[in-house]
Amino acid sequence: MPLIDLKLHANVSELTLYLKCPRQVYYTYRKHELAPEITPEYLEHMMLKELAIGYPDAIERAKADEHDIHDQLNIEMERVKAELELIYSTELRDLPFKVLETAENVVSEQIERIATNLSEAISKYGQEEIIQMIRPYRTEPVLHSDKLKMTGIPSAIVNYREKMVPLSIRTGKCPDSGVWRNDRIHIAAIAMLLEDNYEDSVEHGFVQYARHGNIRKVKIKPEDRRQVLKIRSRIDIIKDGNLPERKEVPACNYCNFTKFCTTTKSSLASKLF
Ligand code: SF4
Repeated sequence: MPLIDLKLHANVSELTLYLKCPRQVYYTYRKHELAPEITPEYLEHMMLKELAIGYPDAIERAKADEHDIHDQLNIEMERVKAELELIYSTELRDLPFKVLETAENVVSEQIERIATNLSEAISKYGQEEIIQMIRPYRTEPVLHSDKLKMTGIPSAIVNYREKMVPLSIRTGKCPDSGVWRNDRIHIAAIAMLLEDNYEDSVEHGFVQYARHGNIRKVKIKPEDRRQVLKIRSRIDIIKDGNLPERKEVPACNYCNFTKFCTTTKSSLASKLF
């Protein structure tokens, strides 16, 4: 499909953005890019994501012993340090050493807790099962569906019990149980895209909270699918030029659009949001 057509489809990342703040969808679509500044915190997220991609290898090499997993995660951390600037060569060009060093230290401090949680998961479900849940079959594949009028790039898809299912690697906080609502909708949207791409049903997906080494299985409910379709339609309305109502949301505290987002006026359609 030509890129020009793909751009007309709602993107799963826009669904996530919508759940944070519908206005961010409006501004992003109008090319006010949410350009992230490369801070130690941002770099920390990049590192955790790359580290998480290596968890299945670390688990496979370890002998299911917490201490051994810890050692193997340290080896993975060395890989991340060596590869990060090669993978994100544009974003990290001219990065000050101090920023890199700070982020590396923070991520290295998480390894002990990650090893403990992965080790507990292995004791509960078994090594093979955990590896199946999180070993990428493909990382960041571009999925699109004409039927859904949607595109998406999941962190990975995994081949779990001979089915392609979504794996979302999250680098923020982990809820005490289950997954955050945003993550649930994200997994449902990717599952719907996978169903159309692989012509097979997808009943669940996985969210990996990389910072903690927690893996959560998500059962995809009809209501999640309903929400995906509803939000996708609202995104289409926003892209047609309807500015959603301005609401004070937590994202306002670190939003790059504050300088544009001054008017409280909104179009009639925005009452829908
Ligand atoms: S400033 Fe707040 S309301 Fe405006 S776009 Fe950002 S997050 Fe949304």
